[in-house]
Amino acid sequence: MKTIYVNLKSEVTGAMHLYQRTGHTVYRVRTECSCTDGNNRRNGIIAVQDDRIVYKVIRCKGCVNRELELAKPGKEAEHGTI
Ligand SMILES: [Zn+2]
Repeated sequence: MKTIYVNLKSEVTGAMHLYQRTGHTVYRVRTECSCTDGNNRRNGIIAVQDDRIVYKVIRCKGCVNRELELAKPGKEAEHGTI
């Protein structure tokens, strides 16, 4: 399962339509993101195929920003993954 974080409600809806078009069954859900401030109930979707959750799309600015921060050049070395 791949988890994708997005900023906007429209991005969640866009992902929903995309996965429906590609043959997934999509459900809107309330789920938890990876923020640790105790307020991490978010809107999102899960895309199911062959009885397995393939994608989880969660709307959370905090998680999007954290992922962007980790993706910056040079950060990988700091985290010891290279
Ligand atoms: Zn979050």
